Amino acid sequence: MVKCLRSVGNACLLLLFLASLPCLFGCGGRSSASQDKTLKPVADNPADAKGSKGTAKQFTATRTLLDGTWLSSHLGAATKRNPAVEKGASFRWPVDGSISESNPSATGNDYSTYEPNDPIFGEYHTGIDICPAAGCLAGQPAYASADGVVQSVFAVSDPAQTLCDGSPASSLSDNGNSNLGNAVIIAHANGKFTVYGHLDCAWPGISAGVQVSRGERIGNVGHSCFHYRQCQFMPHVHFEVKDRGVLGDPTGKGYSGYTPDLPDGYGYHDPRIYLFPFSAKSISPIALKIVASPNLPVRTGPDTSYAFLTSVASGQESVAFATSESWYQIYLPNVSGPTSGWVQGGSGRASPDLGATQIEVTGAGGSGLLIHPSPGADAKSVHWDQTFLNCGAAVKIWDGQRFVTFASQNGWYQLFLPVNYSLSSSGDCEEPTEPGPSVGWSSGASLNVLPHTARLGGR
Ligand SMILES: [Zn+2]
Repeated sequence: MVKCLRSVGNACLLLLFLASLPCLFGCGGRSSASQDKTLKPVADNPADAKGSKGTAKQFTATRTLLDGTWLSSHLGAATKRNPAVEKGASFRWPVDGSISESNPSATGNDYSTYEPNDPIFGEYHTGIDICPAAGCLAGQPAYASADGVVQSVFAVSDPAQTLCDGSPASSLSDNGNSNLGNAVIIAHANGKFTVYGHLDCAWPGISAGVQVSRGERIGNVGHSCFHYRQCQFMPHVHFEVKDRGVLGDPTGKGYSGYTPDLPDGYGYHDPRIYLFPFSAKSISPIALKIVASPNLPVRTGPDTSYAFLTSVASGQESVAFATSESWYQIYLPNVSGPTSGWVQGGSGRASPDLGATQIEVTGAGGSGLLIHPSPGADAKSVHWDQTFLNCGAAVKIWDGQRFVTFASQNGWYQLFLPVNYSLSSSGDCEEPTEPGPSVGWSSGASLNVLPHTARLGGR
């Protein structure tokens, strides 16, 4: 995965070839989650209509297919309601073989990773970068992860570009403006889309509207990016599971593979949740006090094998709303939309705090509720420790989310933040010398302070 500074513009292409990139793919080690319990039919996903400029036309072209009878005839109406399918049990790795733990870059555990001080990689990875067991070699097969319909196929404009059988690739959509290079997008019956980036080539016959089966070859592993079939990084597949059938950052900043904040807020999901599905049950929201020292990892799923997202620090409190064995799913703030993650409870980690006061976001609407460094202070002085290029943006909490508050002042409430956020008291766009933990303030006008009797289910 390579990404360019948005401020550099076309000059970024130069960077791709000048830089001896410190990480060939999947830099860093952070991850996000939010279990998507609200699965929408493909044809009714309202977010799809917002498609980015570059792919809106293609979406319209295949919309007819998705609105038609293909999904029900091919997968059967019952399949749509099959919890196993909706939970992702039918998804498989898009490359051959198990992922080698001996190759840290090939574990697929790099969803939402970031490099805090690297201007190229200083944001959150939206997928996982994986290689076949045979190695990170161009030409290895890439497969459809599950049954679906090809949403779109993109090819770079390199004169040497062909389909995998050497035939012309000129009929495919040009992808000279995305670092994902040759890429395939597939729509699935559970309403999700999978993206396969950096391919060396598309397999003959793989084009928009074509039905594909789980495990069907869609192309070859490669290292394409922007206009070029062979870029300066190790061949691999950049694999995404997302809510929209488009390439790139949903904020429309013109690059793919990274978001300015935890990717779940932008409609991306850790593919490992679909590759290794789990069961969870909802609970009445309960406050959790973190006792792990110095902090407790937050992961994309209820096991240490799921990707790392952020941490919550000792002494802080979060609100959990679901459990899976000893793990709790907690609400997290995010600038673009609500996210969540999993922490392991139990002795020495986190324990329920029945005395905490919860606040619930209500009435903030689609724009969310800003977190401020102090009551009434300019919210633009809020910025992330690792995304200093975006310090003008702010962290938000969203309707329906709950947090623990421990102080109030003039109608404002103070709440804890995960360690990936820092608040600047100066208002300058400076990267903090140390990441959080931190605290922030939100206006009570969009918060419902819950009575203590509402904290526990059944009371
Ligand atoms: Zn990647």
